[in-house]
Formats: sequence, C-alpha cells, structure tokens
Amino acid sequence: MSEHACRACRGRTGDLVLDLGEQPACDYFPRGDDPGPDPVYPLQMWLCSSCGLAQLVADPTVPEEPRGAEPAALVAQAADAVARVAATGLLAGGGRVAEYGSPHGGSWLELLADCGLKPVPDGEQAEVIVDCFGLMHAPDQFAALAERAARLADGGVLLLQYHSLDTIIRCGQWNALRHGHYAYYSTTALAAMLAAHGLRPRMAWHFELYGGTILLAASRDPDTRAWPDGQVSALLAADARAGVRDSAVLGGLHRDAEARARGLHDWLVARHSEGSTVLGYGAASRAVALLRRAGVDRALLPAVADASPAKQGLRMPGTDIPVVSPQRLNADQPDAVLLFLADLLTEVRAAFPRVEATGGRWVDVETLGQRQAPG
Ligand SMILES: [Zn+2]
Repeated sequence: MSEHACRACRGRTGDLVLDLGEQPACDYFPRGDDPGPDPVYPLQMWLCSSCGLAQLVADPTVPEEPRGAEPAALVAQAADAVARVAATGLLAGGGRVAEYGSPHGGSWLELLADCGLKPVPDGEQAEVIVDCFGLMHAPDQFAALAERAARLADGGVLLLQYHSLDTIIRCGQWNALRHGHYAYYSTTALAAMLAAHGLRPRMAWHFELYGGTILLAASRDPDTRAWPDGQVSALLAADARAGVRDSAVLGGLHRDAEARARGLHDWLVARHSEGSTVLGYGAASRAVALLRRAGVDRALLPAVADASPAKQGLRMPGTDIPVVSPQRLNADQPDAVLLFLADLLTEVRAAFPRVEATGGRWVDVETLGQRQAPG
C-alpha cells in the first residue's frame, strides 16, 4: 500500500480500511451467453492519514459507467436542493453558472436557469459552480478541485453535494464503495481539501437522500459576507463523534461486509442442503459486490429476476447467475425469494402474490448476517 498516494493531498501514509477483494465493474452486466470470466479489479478503500479523505485505491481504468435511466430520486433531489439554496437568497445575484454533474443524472442547470442564472461554456468562470456528485468521479481529486476553484469568479460560491462518510459509517453502507467512485467525503476531509485551494465551507444543507447527503457552499477567502453561524461546525463536530478520521472505526465497514457475505453464503447453503428452492429478485448493481464476496453461484442461487426487460437475458457481473424475467417466480414456485432491493418489499409482494400463495416467502438480503445487538 506504500505505493498509493492520496488522490487529494498526495500523502502516502494511510490505512486500508475496507477490502472487498477482486470485483467486476458493478454496472457492467454481460450477456447471459458471455462465458466470462469478467474482468475484475481490487475494490479497496484507503483512509489518508494526512487529509482524512477516504478513497478508492486502485484505478482500474474501467470504461465510463453506462448512463442508465435517470434515477427519479436524483431528479427530485435537484429540485429540492435548488429550492432550499434559493430560499437563502444565495442565488439572488443571478450571474453565470457552471455545472459538474453526476454521470448518473440529476442536472441542476434548468432549475438554476429558472432562477436567472446563465450557463457558461466549459472552462469559463462563473459566480455559481455546482457539483452534484460529480467530484467523486474524478480519479485526481486535487486536480479536479483545482479546476473548480480556478473557475470560481470573484465573490462566487461553489456548491458541492456529497453522500457523507458519516452516513456511510452510521448506516454501515460498505456497499457505497464502487469502482469509478474515487472519493468518499467527510465534511472534515472536504474542508481540508477546499483549504488547499483557498476555499472555505460557509453553509450546509442536509438531505435524506442515500441515508444522509450534504450540500456544502464554499467561497474564497477572504469573504466579508455574513454567513449563518454553526452549520459547518456542527457537521465537523458530528464527523468527530462518528470517527471519520479513525481507521479503526472505518474498519467496521469491512467487518460488516464480511458478516453480510458470510450470512448470505451460509443462509443459501442451508437452504440448498434442506432442498429448498431459492430465487433472487432485483438485479441491482449493489448486489454485485455482495454476491461475489459471498462466493454465490447458480448452484446456490439459480437466477435473479428483474422487472427491467433491458436486464433480462444478462448475467450478474462476476458470477454465472442469469438475470431472468419475473415470470420465473410464478413458474418455479420457489420456497424463498431473496430480495436485493429491500425498499421494494411492499411493491413486490403485491406484484407477485403467487410467491406467498404457493408457500414461498420474501427474504430481505439485508437481514442476513446482520450484526446482532449485544446480549
Ligand atoms: Zn490525503
């Protein structure tokens, strides 16, 4: 690990805190008749001791993530965020806007144009620079933030939205670690990164998206405007309580991941040995690392059903498990359906009543291998 230099501060001291082993790109679903093996790359999180940035270690140079359907949650989030920022008067001055968007969608530009902001071409300066889940996709974090800082016009504001490391720790979201997502920001680490470019966080908003997402407004020093008290310092205090710079705390993500993988594997082996049939539901990219870490193949899980016709006929990356039409749930009458998208439980129970009518049950994969409360 001595070879790794921090993507933000170039520091070389730090700790490997989460290691999910060799993993395929989780959005690359090969065709069902593609025999593989799929290319795999180490999927590891490293915590920089110098600036505190949690980051992806390897740069496997995977192709750009395919742009799927724009998630409705991101579109709703953009509208909510712009409304909340506008309500503070921060956009009242109008001016120019530049956006560094997420490849997953959720652009703010139209909403900001409605607020009177005028988009500028690439490379030009702007009074408002928006980065909504964009920065995390940059392998070179220092260069990416330097570019944003350089484009910030005098008196301008940089709006940065990120899924907070505090949330990832609090909710045990080890699954947030993905190829192509190079950085996992705490407010603490981001403040240090911003300082290296002459910027300072001034205001913050909290959103429920992904269990806890932060939008930070930063501006260049000095800045004599009156900013609200306490918002940023409250986030920094929450970070300190969560232990965002403590590699032992972040190591809990690794223990969670191992427990989930073992729990899934052991549960499937037990069902297999008692002769139960199990199918999966929800060919989600977040299921990929779990299935592979758990060493699950089609002998243990013969198929994963998915409602999206685009995914049917494909294969779960890094495994031999085919993605099939939900018709299989009716045809096979499985004893259990392993649900990889827990938030769909109510919906799938209603959509596929035959599963339970024929004696099957839905099992939320998140409940397997969960940390047990002590005592
Ligand atoms: Zn660093």
